[in-house]
Amino acid sequence: MNLKERIEKFKELEYEFNKDFYSKLEKRQRPHTLFIGCSDSRVDAETLFQAEPGEIFQMRNIANIVPREEEPGTHPSAVSAIEYAVKVLKVKNIVVCGHSKCGGCAAIRKLKTYSKKLPYTGEWLAQSVTISDYIDSKYPDMKEKDKLVMLEKLNAVQQLDNLMTYDFVKDRFKSGKLNLQAYYYDIGSGAISVYDYDSVFSDMINEITEARRLALAAEEENTQAEN
Ligand SMILES: [Zn+2]
Repeated sequence: MNLKERIEKFKELEYEFNKDFYSKLEKRQRPHTLFIGCSDSRVDAETLFQAEPGEIFQMRNIANIVPREEEPGTHPSAVSAIEYAVKVLKVKNIVVCGHSKCGGCAAIRKLKTYSKKLPYTGEWLAQSVTISDYIDSKYPDMKEKDKLVMLEKLNAVQQLDNLMTYDFVKDRFKSGKLNLQAYYYDIGSGAISVYDYDSVFSDMINEITEARRLALAAEEENTQAEN
């Protein structure tokens, strides 16, 4: 089926049978959840949550990354979606969803080579390279495929800490009005692991965050020295 045929099918089968629903939906959206997911076409928030249009606000990018407030450069596209969801739509949940066989995370493992081919993607993914380096230093003997799975999981959990660098997220979380969770979706088995902000990975995330902070400080010092 081509795209035109798909749209016709939507009008004939979906829209025609649910006209009232779409008429009400047009008036307002009241999503309960902000879903931060990888752009990967296999990760579908509506299917995972068995949700209807209007329930889930989404921000998707390669490897489901939330730029930390202190990261250099501006990332208004990503941050504005979070800002709008929290401040205006007042979502009750933010879910960051990592997944198995993530091409973005695999690229983080080979970032230098990858960046030559896809410089924009490389620059974006560099935000999570500290997690990959951390895994190499802590688990030098781990098999590469296991390191990738660990990166996929840790990268999702790391984003909860990244979210907390924004006062508008932190304040709402601390007031008990916002729930933060990281998911790891194993596409092949359908299994979904759920991690809270305070999870088994918290100590690791603290170490990774500190390493990233030091790396950024060193980068800034080098830039100043060059100038
Ligand atoms: Zn992915």
